[in-house]
Amino acid sequence: MKPFEYATALTVESARQLAGANGHYLAGGNDLLGRLKDDITEASRLVNIKAIPGLNRIEPGPQTWRIGALVTIAQIEDHPEIRRVFPGLHQAAAEVGSQQIRNVATLGGNLAQHSRCWYYRHRDIQCLKKRGRICYALEGDNRYHALFTGNVCISPVVSNLAIALTALDATAVVWRDGQERRMTMAELYELAWDNPTAHHSLRPGDLLLRVEIPTVRPRSAYLQISDKHSFDWALVSCAAAARIENGRIHNARIALGCVSPVPHQVTAANQFLEGKNLDEATADQVADLLLAGAQPQEHNAYKIPMARALIRRTLLQLRG
Ligand SMILES: Cc1cc2nc3c(=O)[nH]c(=O)nc-3n(C[C@H](O)[C@H](O)[C@H](O)COP(=O)(O)OP(=O)(O)OC[C@H]3O[C@@H](n4cnc5c(N)ncnc54)[C@H](O)[C@@H]3O)c2cc1C
Ligand code: SF4
Repeated sequence: MKPFEYATALTVESARQLAGANGHYLAGGNDLLGRLKDDITEASRLVNIKAIPGLNRIEPGPQTWRIGALVTIAQIEDHPEIRRVFPGLHQAAAEVGSQQIRNVATLGGNLAQHSRCWYYRHRDIQCLKKRGRICYALEGDNRYHALFTGNVCISPVVSNLAIALTALDATAVVWRDGQERRMTMAELYELAWDNPTAHHSLRPGDLLLRVEIPTVRPRSAYLQISDKHSFDWALVSCAAAARIENGRIHNARIALGCVSPVPHQVTAANQFLEGKNLDEATADQVADLLLAGAQPQEHNAYKIPMARALIRRTLLQLRG
């Protein structure tokens, strides 16, 4: 591991100043410290952001909830009101890694975590995402990779919380250039769609402050399938959120994870759901819309039937 400086920020402004051009924010450290130890990331300075006041709060509201970037995944999982108001977010949090990881991993770090592609995570492999020339997964072992991408890199977004928050239509609030900048979840990842070196749309120095979640979708659900029940990322995940009135679904949002460099959403699928009775036939048609145009690689075509099953189960869970 290369030497680096360490500093603790006490305010948002000082965090930005301390980060400078090549500093990295340190929250729970689950992702960043592993990358530093494996020489995947170099930092001139680590800026501990955990002492910045106010970023560790969960603030309920009648129309909007605010969850600070330093709130841990365990706090999200264990919050009884989150479980009631945003059950899909609770389920997504409960599925992250293991209890030990959830105890220290933060919301901000979960959203900003880097690719899990094993070529990217190998210290000796300089793939396209590390500004090399080749995507090794394209001709290699791509069983965990994407079905959709707008560029050559086929590494998918694997953050559970990103998928649940996409379905809930949350807004990420980011400190950029001395002011708060609001981004939809789609905007938070859109750069990764066509830029192979990007993991998300955050620029160096951008600090995630919180997410804001509207309460207009009282039904939500999140399901995933993994190789192992704990200590593992999803192979495919699915989140959905909506309002149900007289058995009909309204204002629905559905998103897939681990199949694209961005949370995978299709506007036509959300629109198709409007006013429908939630049954298996409807769910199957939504699956057709969400999976249209999927381009499996040599080893990951299994993700298509897996996603189809998850879409059906997740939507049917919304019925309660
Ligand atoms: C064995 C294992 C299994 C896992 N399984 C899952 C899983 O199933 N699902 C899942 O979603 N995740 C999983 N993870 C990933 C884990 O959830 C993330 O590594 C963790 O959430 C990162 O949070 P952190 O606070 O530790 O971030 P850190 O490691 O401190 O930071 C991660 C990155 O985010 C940046 N960052 C942190 N906070 C901010 C901020 N406020 N603003 C801007 N940038 C910021 C850092 O600079 C760094 O680049 C797993 C991890 C492990 C080790
Ligand atoms: S999928 Fe992306 S991260 Fe993985 S080897 Fe290819 S370019 Fe690198």
